[in-house]
Amino acid sequence: MSTLDGKVAIVTGGASGIGRATAILFAKEGAKVVVADVDAAGARAVAEEVGGTAVQADVSQPKDCEQIVRTAVETYGGLHVLFNNAGIIRRTTALDLDVEEWDRVMAVNVRSVFLMSKYAIPAMTEGGSIVNTGSGWGLKGGGNAISYCASKAAVVNMTRALAIDHAKAGIRVNSVNPGDTNTPMLRDEAKQLNEDWAAFEKDAADRPMGRSGTPEEIAQAVLFLASDAASYITGSALVVDGGGLA
Ligand code: NAD
Repeated sequence: MSTLDGKVAIVTGGASGIGRATAILFAKEGAKVVVADVDAAGARAVAEEVGGTAVQADVSQPKDCEQIVRTAVETYGGLHVLFNNAGIIRRTTALDLDVEEWDRVMAVNVRSVFLMSKYAIPAMTEGGSIVNTGSGWGLKGGGNAISYCASKAAVVNMTRALAIDHAKAGIRVNSVNPGDTNTPMLRDEAKQLNEDWAAFEKDAADRPMGRSGTPEEIAQAVLFLASDAASYITGSALVVDGGGLA
């Protein structure tokens, strides 16, 4: 039997990077997967690849979040796993960040976790597991990323609050906290900082393991937290960063 046989899972930000790798792994492990992303074509492509269902959605919007959950329940008859993973980053200090950009990062990275949880938890009638993508920068500070650092710290602590509130209903809530992971987002960060990709990636050599992570390596940690193998783990912040935080 595979790890997620008979389970229905939602992956937000499922069109790319960590979300895409996780949707593929969840499906391989037997789950029916709803791939939600603001990028409609990307979500469709991944849904096709995993035999799942695509939903175009902006996870900062309540109606879109309701629609994602409704699609899972109406298509597959229930919901067991929610991976709140969609996120954006702005690589600036406070001095260079517009108020609108601050609000957008908070809406996509933080409000989305609240909204998706609000609609998904009542649908998890057999219990369930929620995994939220935090970041190493939710657990320590980082340069040129003021709104992102604030947003990911909020995700890590909202995870703990959700875990406490819904434990008795059989719902576990944990965060997975990646270090630099080789995805389109990381390449975009190099661009935002006007840094050459090769030089940017070379920074990873400062870490104990001397490299950035792969989306597939993060997906394995998400699968563990999503599965019954983690049945006594809730409210935790799992760091997956090749030793960077250490
Ligand atoms: P990515 O850019 O490859 O994927 C992010 C996905 O989220 C994209 O498909 C994008 O279209 C989608 N998305 C963005 N805004 C959305 C919205 N409003 N509604 C729905 N979908 C939206 O990036 P990634 O690196 O795979 O990032 C995934 C998560 O991992 C993010 O939360 C990110 O902050 C976090 N993270 C990434 C790294 C890294 O180094 N790549 C490190 C730590 C944490």
